[in-house]
Amino acid sequence: MPDALLSDATIGHDPTASSEPSYDARPQSIPGCVHRRPRLRTRRARPSPVSTHRIVIVGGGAGGLELATRLGDRLGPRGLRGGRAEVTLVDRSPTHVWKPMLHQVAAGSLDPDGHALDYLAQARWHHFRFRRGQMVGLDRTAREIELAPLHDDEGVLVVPARRIGYDTLVIAVGSQVNDFGTPGAARHAISLDSVADAQRFHQRLINACMRANDQEEALRPGQLSIAIIGAGATGVELAAELHHSTRELIAFGMDRLRADRDIRITLVEAGPRVLPALPETLSEGAEALLKDLRIDVRTGEKVTAVRADGIETASGLFVPAEISVWAAGIRAPAFLSGLDGLETNRIDQLVLQPTLATTRDPDVFALGDCASCPWLGHAPGANGSVVNVPPRAQAAHQQAATLYRNLVARIDRRALDAFRYRDFGSLVSLGEHSTVGSLMGALVGGRLFIEGLFARMMYISLHKMHEYALHGSARVAMDTLARLFSRSSEPRVKLH
Ligand SMILES: Cc1cc2nc3c(=O)[nH]c(=O)nc-3n(C[C@H](O)[C@H](O)[C@H](O)COP(=O)(O)OP(=O)(O)OC[C@H]3O[C@@H](n4cnc5c(N)ncnc54)[C@H](O)[C@@H]3O)c2cc1C
Repeated sequence: MPDALLSDATIGHDPTASSEPSYDARPQSIPGCVHRRPRLRTRRARPSPVSTHRIVIVGGGAGGLELATRLGDRLGPRGLRGGRAEVTLVDRSPTHVWKPMLHQVAAGSLDPDGHALDYLAQARWHHFRFRRGQMVGLDRTAREIELAPLHDDEGVLVVPARRIGYDTLVIAVGSQVNDFGTPGAARHAISLDSVADAQRFHQRLINACMRANDQEEALRPGQLSIAIIGAGATGVELAAELHHSTRELIAFGMDRLRADRDIRITLVEAGPRVLPALPETLSEGAEALLKDLRIDVRTGEKVTAVRADGIETASGLFVPAEISVWAAGIRAPAFLSGLDGLETNRIDQLVLQPTLATTRDPDVFALGDCASCPWLGHAPGANGSVVNVPPRAQAAHQQAATLYRNLVARIDRRALDAFRYRDFGSLVSLGEHSTVGSLMGALVGGRLFIEGLFARMMYISLHKMHEYALHGSARVAMDTLARLFSRSSEPRVKLH
């Protein structure tokens, strides 16, 4: 049954009402909303005593899942203010893995199965509904989102194309890498956009090591070489993580390989330094650490083509590589471009007002990487331009908190708050055993460079904050302890 019909059948059912066909003319709970189109009903029905507001959140990532959890707890049928809203989360995947961990999944130092959260379980525990599907369109007049048909791995249809009705819509579909149309990038370079991408990279890494370990002849040039395009936080973290995990992997039975001799990791950056978004002091420290790890850092090299056997740069450099990873730049998913007349920017992000509502529709909100949100209080950028909130997990986390308050206020007919981003700094992990270079900003009233154990703990705390928002403190403490014990009895790298 389509969701729109499902929701009509489950809300406002009254056994005492007439069984004659009736029209659902329930009032909407907020000012400024257009009434839902009357729908002919053939079953007994009555208007709900308290009108139920339909909140649909698309994208259960760093921001969307926190928002659905908090709204379900507060407004869902068994929440603190039970039944005020019907909260539905839509995601194309069945499980959630926190995206900043994907470089660890790719390197094999983290098994996603142990960290994946089942959306259906979270929905049951926190009183919201989950619908699996990929959003492909929007009908703002009918207030419905459009989902593509869902097929299984063998191509068999599971659920046909559907529409889901909303009164308030939140789009939180994240971002994907931006290869700027570089020839060969889409075909030959792996991105780290999803768990499936990260696992694909890991599988290719293991296969490459096994192949090299078993071959009689000497390794050919570029064999067991990995090129990482983009030395932002993702590229730097991946390079450092790979340094450690390849050594672990080789230690498990790859007896003919020697990591220092056979594995080569090259980090290629178009800008003049690694971590271009961070202060120079931090970049210099990080680059020195990368070089200590024998990672070949090439700055000032703009990649012009990706080939099956390596990458070419504008200066004429060719970096041989068996595996290439694109980790430079982001853009929002293409389907958002001009989505039913909503305003988008040049990288397809939805343009927002400070309240996190989209500029052209007060019933459609967005958060996280797919949103272009003004950073209130930040000094103007080049040519006096408005600076936007950066695409980071900490921004998605803070936006989810503001949007939670704003959506409750919207139902209560109160004014909405403006989102104010607080920059707590940028932390870059250089692997489990290495120093973590880091920077904190507003938290300490300026800039403070930290490293070592304290920085490592700050880095981990970002993930813990996400887990706390999803599960509460008791479960986070228990899960942390359980993982500590299980890690001590398992290999530190995933071997298949
Ligand atoms: C390797 C890596 C390391 C990172 N490290 C850090 C870090 O250390 N610190 C930091 O602050 N940030 C980090 N980031 C950035 C951070 O992951 C993102 O900023 C953050 O995840 C954005 O959150 P989000 O909720 O907007 O989107 P996401 O967390 O990306 O979630 C988007 C969700 O939408 C779903 N979805 C997408 N399209 C559709 C569709 N059409 N229909 C239905 N569902 C859809 C996806 O399945 C996903 O569940 C890192 C990113 C990567 C890739």
